[in-house]
Amino acid sequence: MKFRVGFQVSVSLSRKHENMKNTLLLLMLFLIGFTGCKDDSGSTMLDGPWVTTSQGLITLHTRPAGYGYGASPDQTAIDSTLVHQNAFIGLINQKLNTGFDEKLEIYFFNKDEVELKLGVKAGGSTNPKRKEIYYSFGYHQYYPNLKLYDYLGVHEMVHMVAENTIGQGGTTMIIEGLAVAIDGTLGNVGETRKLIGEWMAEYQNAGNIYTPTQLLEKPSAITDIEFYAQSGNFVNWLLQKFGASEIAQLYQLNKDQFKSEFQKITGQTYTSMEADYLDETREKQ
Ligand SMILES: [Zn+2]
Repeated sequence: MKFRVGFQVSVSLSRKHENMKNTLLLLMLFLIGFTGCKDDSGSTMLDGPWVTTSQGLITLHTRPAGYGYGASPDQTAIDSTLVHQNAFIGLINQKLNTGFDEKLEIYFFNKDEVELKLGVKAGGSTNPKRKEIYYSFGYHQYYPNLKLYDYLGVHEMVHMVAENTIGQGGTTMIIEGLAVAIDGTLGNVGETRKLIGEWMAEYQNAGNIYTPTQLLEKPSAITDIEFYAQSGNFVNWLLQKFGASEIAQLYQLNKDQFKSEFQKITGQTYTSMEADYLDETREKQ
């Protein structure tokens, strides 16, 4: 038996200088959980050939040069990915106060095949039980202040660490919100990327800040991109306000428990927290 939680997001942007519309695919950020046997994995997705390189906790599988779906990562890209992904594990452990130290595999698909294999132009997914991450090579890698994030890699690594140390996430809001809170942006790659604060400023200007209850319920009126950005902002706010051990407890609650158990975990009523969040979020520029 397996379950699968995922979203696909795409937006069209007007590019002023080129006077054309450029469809920018943002993200497909799956968390795939398997509660059953290991064979239930959609094995054709992982068909070779792969070049395998290991460093630290990570075994990275990349496409060989000349593989038929766009450019393959060269040695520099392979080495850089391994260095950064190992560093992300340390960063995430630090932020979540966790101790993830298990070996894992990363399947780094070429950009052009991701659309075929995963259904979008850029994206990633994580199978925490199998200790496998799948995402795309070939987009701009972004390392602010020198080191930590290429966004997709860190996003997926949060899922890996959280699900293997904290436990199974109970709501999509907190599973994806935590990953976005730590990756720092959501889905944008390259020059048009926006950080969470930039997304939130747009929503504030538009008077479109969702309540935590709306994020927990995730009605279809909330677009996936709004959902990712605002869940990330909310979980980041919770993390700053209450801390990692409280987040770990909240992580595993389903949406009904989230409200009923909130005060027990944090010392604040859910209703009061929600009011605080909206006050602070709506006034922040
Ligand atoms: Zn995700």
